[in-house]
Amino acid sequence: MNFTFKTIGEFNDYFKDEKTCYEFLETQRWDGVPVCPHCATAKKPYTVKARGKFTDIPSYRCSERACGLPFTVRTGSIFEGSKVELRKWLQASYELSISKKGISSVELATRIGVSQKTAWFINHRLRAMLTETAPELLSGMVEVDETYIGGKEKNKSKSKRAANIEAAKLLNPSRTRNIYPIDTKTAVLGILERGGKVRVQTMVAASKEVLLPLLDANISKSSTVVTDGLQSYKKLGEIYNAHVVVNHAQDEWVKGQFSTNNIEGFWSILKRGVIGTFHFVSPQHLQRYCDEFAHRYNTRTATTQERFLAAINNAHGNRLKYRELTPNQPEPNRKSRYNKDKKHQ
Ligand SMILES: [Zn+2]
Repeated sequence: MNFTFKTIGEFNDYFKDEKTCYEFLETQRWDGVPVCPHCATAKKPYTVKARGKFTDIPSYRCSERACGLPFTVRTGSIFEGSKVELRKWLQASYELSISKKGISSVELATRIGVSQKTAWFINHRLRAMLTETAPELLSGMVEVDETYIGGKEKNKSKSKRAANIEAAKLLNPSRTRNIYPIDTKTAVLGILERGGKVRVQTMVAASKEVLLPLLDANISKSSTVVTDGLQSYKKLGEIYNAHVVVNHAQDEWVKGQFSTNNIEGFWSILKRGVIGTFHFVSPQHLQRYCDEFAHRYNTRTATTQERFLAAINNAHGNRLKYRELTPNQPEPNRKSRYNKDKKHQ
């Protein structure tokens, strides 16, 4: 697929209706030949009339006798089970691809014309598209650093605390009690290949037991690893080709060609984004924000179109349910059929 848009207006003109958006997604997902997402049979599915508001969108039923289930290109993707038009989902994906520091759900809501609660949900599902699906090991010169995000509420000024409570309410509109932001600093590990990609992972603690397996899963043994003087990194020289310690405690920041300047630059972008755009991020969701910023960094040389397509092509198999987003809360606006029927009796 080859297209370029200079403005968001051009994008919206191209994706003018639901049918165009479905056809676009079919090309991306199936190359135009629909495959049943329930059983993946090679048999050609039946084309059926779409139900609901848009009757011209491509709709299918599996022709495999044991399956026979209905589906569209949204089935099994992060766009499944949502009442929001596909056009708005694609718009939101594009907005996310062109933004330099992320979009808050308040902003996204006005841009694509949905409620703030819906925008919050869309934003979180889209972040699930931004995780790497099959990451390779980082190698060469690899910078490793840990940081802490968040802070104690009691140490903040009264106005700051009030602002955080407001932000927490906006981020979690379904919550009516305990809306106070949680006081926590979350440890975050960053691994950055110089001239290459960054990986960011939230941790329960910056201990050796947590750090070493994460480094092992992400860094090639042939690498030169640069860290600060944290005790947990002490034995890295025995595991990797070389280990260089830049001792920040002794005001040492650069040692010849070795430094952790790149990962520190990434931390400042991440922190500015999390604080500046999102104001408050609960530890529970921090990993997804980290993924969003890592994706932006990792695609820094790509064009907007390439970033958008890369995200869309990740839309399948990364579905995030509302329950996973808010494990401690009941699902909003979901009236059970039982209650509904009772009401009409
Ligand atoms: Zn099937």
